[in-house]
Formats: sequence, C-alpha cells, structure tokens
Amino acid sequence: MALLFNKSIVKNTLQYLNLRLFYIWLLFFFFFLVAISPEISAPYAVASTYIFYYLLYLINNTIFKISLYFLTISLVIYYPISMLYGTINSGIIAAFLETNFSEAASFLGGFSVDMFILPFLYILSLIILIRLLKYNIKPTIKSQKILFIILIVVFLFTLLYSPSVIYFKNNYDWEEKTWKLSNTPINIISFYSEMYNSFESYYTEKKLLENAKDIMVDWNILSTSSQYKNYVLVIGESARKDYFSTYGFPLQTTPFLDKTNGYINQGYISAAPGTYHSLLGSLYFKEKEKKIDYAYNIITLAKAAKIETIWLSNQGAIGKYDTIASRIGASADKQYFIKKAGYNTSGETDDLELLPLFQNELKKENPTDKARLFVLHLMGSHQKFCSRLNEEEKKIIFINENLSCYASSILKTDAIIEKIIAQLQQQNEPYSLIYFSDHGLSHINKDDQEKVTLDYSGKFKQNYAVPFFKLSSDDSDRTVVNTQRSAMNFIYGFAQWLGIKSQRLGQSYDFFSEKNDSAIKVYNFEQMLPFNSLESDPIPYYLTK
Ligand SMILES: [Zn+2]
Repeated sequence: MALLFNKSIVKNTLQYLNLRLFYIWLLFFFFFLVAISPEISAPYAVASTYIFYYLLYLINNTIFKISLYFLTISLVIYYPISMLYGTINSGIIAAFLETNFSEAASFLGGFSVDMFILPFLYILSLIILIRLLKYNIKPTIKSQKILFIILIVVFLFTLLYSPSVIYFKNNYDWEEKTWKLSNTPINIISFYSEMYNSFESYYTEKKLLENAKDIMVDWNILSTSSQYKNYVLVIGESARKDYFSTYGFPLQTTPFLDKTNGYINQGYISAAPGTYHSLLGSLYFKEKEKKIDYAYNIITLAKAAKIETIWLSNQGAIGKYDTIASRIGASADKQYFIKKAGYNTSGETDDLELLPLFQNELKKENPTDKARLFVLHLMGSHQKFCSRLNEEEKKIIFINENLSCYASSILKTDAIIEKIIAQLQQQNEPYSLIYFSDHGLSHINKDDQEKVTLDYSGKFKQNYAVPFFKLSSDDSDRTVVNTQRSAMNFIYGFAQWLGIKSQRLGQSYDFFSEKNDSAIKVYNFEQMLPFNSLESDPIPYYLTK
C-alpha cells in the first residue's frame, strides 16, 4: 500500500515537472547566463532576467526566440574575451579598434580550448530550451492578466532600482554623477548598455587625450625657484605600507629604503582604495565645494612654471580606470606608455623596462637649463602579483605563493627606486625623488593559509595607508615622521617640492610640516568617510606561526 502511494506521488511529481520542464530549463538557462557575467549579484539577477524573458515569451514567441539567440551569440563571443581581458570597458574596445594585424594574431593566440567549454554548453542548453519551447503549452496574456501586470511592475522596478540606488548613494563631489542603465541586474540590458557606454567613453577619452596637450591653464604663478635640477615622481601601485620593512614588516622587503637618508612619512593616507579615484583625488587640484577641473593637474602646474615634463608609464593608456593618469601624462612635454592599450593580461610589461627610457631622457642635453620633472607610473604590486616578477625576483617567502610574490614585488619596487637614485647620482646634478603608492589592498580568505591573499576593498585602514617618502641629493639625515597627511593635499606638497608659488593654491598650507591634517576623509568607492572610522586589517602573522 505504502509503496503504491509513494509510486503515485513520484508519478504525479514527474508529471508536474514534465509540464513545467520548459520553465525549469529557462530558469537553469539564466542561472547559467549569470554565471558567465559574475559581477552582478547572482540570485537577484537570475530572478529579474527570468521575469524579463517570461514577459517576452508571453508577449511574442518570435521576439522571445530572437532575443535568446542574440543573447547567446553575444555571450558566446564575449565570454572568452572577458576571460582574457576582464569585463568590458573602453580599454577592451581600444584594444580592438587600435590593434594592427600582428597584434590581432597574438590576440587570437591567447585563447585556450577550455575558454570555449562554457560557451559550448551554453549553446547546447539554448538548443534544449528551443526544443522544449516547441512542446510547451503557452498561456495567453489574457489568462494571466494579473500576473502579467505584476510582473511588468516588478520588471520595471528591478530595471530602475539598482541604477538609481547607485546614483543616489554616490555622494562624492569630485565628478559629475551619472545615472547608468548598465547598473541594472538584468543581464542583457546591462550588457548592451555597458557595451554602448564603453564605445562612447572610448571616443570621448581619445578626444580628450588628443586635446590634452593644447590646454592652456591659468595657474597664476607668482614665482618659481626650483631647488633641484631633476625631479622624479614615482607613483607606486597597490603597495601597502605595512609590507615595507621600513614601515615595520619583519622580512627585509625594502633594504634600500631602510638605510637611505631622506624624509619618510608614516601617516600618509591615499584618497581612495583604487587607482582611478586615488589619482583623481591626488594629482588634480580641486577647489573647495567645486568639481574637479581636469585642466588643473600636476603636469599643467609644472608646465606653467616652465619645468620640462616627461611622463613614463607602465600602466595602460586607455580604459576607464587608466585614463585619469594617462590623460595627465598625455599633456606632458614627452610621454612614453610602454604598455599596449587595454592589454592587461597578455601584454605584461616589466617596470624595469622604464629605466632605460628614463636614463636616456635624463642624459639628454638640457640647454635651457630648466628643471625637469620625470613621472614614473609603475605597475608595482598590482594584482596577479606573481606576474610582476620573473623567477629570480621571487625572493621573499611569506605565508603562501601569492603573498610571497606580493612581498617580493615590494622588494622589486625598492630595487627600482635604488636604481633610479643611482642613475640620478651618475648624472651629477641636484635631484629629488618622491614616491607614494596609489592605494593599498586588504586580505581575503584570512583563515586559510593556502588561500589568503590581497584584494581591492574600501573597508579597511590598510586600503589607504600607503608609503610616502622623499629622497633628495642634499639630504643629510634620515627623518622619519608620523604626520597624518591626506593624499588629497598632494598637489600643495607637489608645488612646494618644485618651488612653485601659485596664487590659485595659496601659501598658507605646509605639506611637509609636522602639523597633522585634521579629520581626514577617504572615498571608499561609494562615499566620503572619516579615515579613523574604518576597521583594521592587520597582516595575518598568526598563519606564519
Ligand atoms: Zn592602483
């Protein structure tokens, strides 16, 4: 009896599932689809995409099918590309539009077979879906009137909710806010609107880069008296202060900096936890209560003071998160971008490749006797730490492979700075070098010795606590200070360093004094927050015991 009863339950369940197989498969299909674009919060995205397509299905079979094909083809092409180059941005668009034939060939060479497994399964599940569609008894809109209306309301809500939340939550006042449809969780809509945005920003960025050189700026220079002949600004990447032995790391990661004379600040705080916003906050001048005017930056300031400017970069030149620095760089008298646009994985270039270019420029005759400013923008300790290093450079052993590479990349940056100083000394002219890192990183997977590593975040003090030091030819001692200094005031220090007095910047602020900046705020990707309110993310030494 019990057996019979069970059998009929199974039978009923199967019959029930059979009738709804199409809908179940459709859900599976979108689950899969969201897995392909993982940056969107998954359950929310599956649900909203599902609703969107269910509505399309109710409205018209052909539109439903065409949009399924369209989506599948887009993602099948896009998935392998995103595996190689990351999510779509104007950098990827630039890579496509500016690639010559040999680069296109090497681009194709970067793909591997396993990148096509998911796209293949995706096509397969589409075929099954279309078969099931054929046998599914379609409900009419009439029979589902109330559900239809509810779903339309839910759809519109999900479509508009996320972009609006992101728009209103963003309270930082440096740049114009924009409401972006690409922030919607409905996959196909965000995909194509992001694609559109990327094309659009590629063309705008390109134009801005081309025009950067001709911008005339009125800094209102009162006087210039440069103390040194050669100024070098080294912008580091993703380097946390506490991984430098100079700042307390127990293994020797900065042997050069540990013993050199100079000015070393332990209280420097970056403007933001990512390259773009950090450099936006520190290399540009922002008047109180105003938006950033891109014309006012460190290069136009140096040029206004008749200082020759040379920009040497190992970071990409185009792409949403590259442009803020490269746009300044493009306005320098001379510029070298050694990395190909948008190639952030296959086209790795070593920071060391900047050094011969630097030396070459340094040695050039300088008949005008002007002071010169060299800016070196490093890849430093950027993620995929091990790919910053060749085998011999992997010298430090700390917790696991990733963190060992991270610590070794700090050692490499220290060696690069030592080499730059040696080149400057050879030149036999007064020099001064400033180094700071654009931002730090924080630990993830902290309870697992194998998996613990560093990643971007805006949550912790260490995402902002970065090294800052100044090494000059006339330093007679080693001054280590702990002055709370916000990177948002860097431009004042920059002007002081170069001996520039500008009416626009005023004279009252002394960047190199020991007076702390009060109530330092940082931009955590969403809003401005007091630095002191952040949590701490110490190095997980417990794993080393
Ligand atoms: Zn960065």
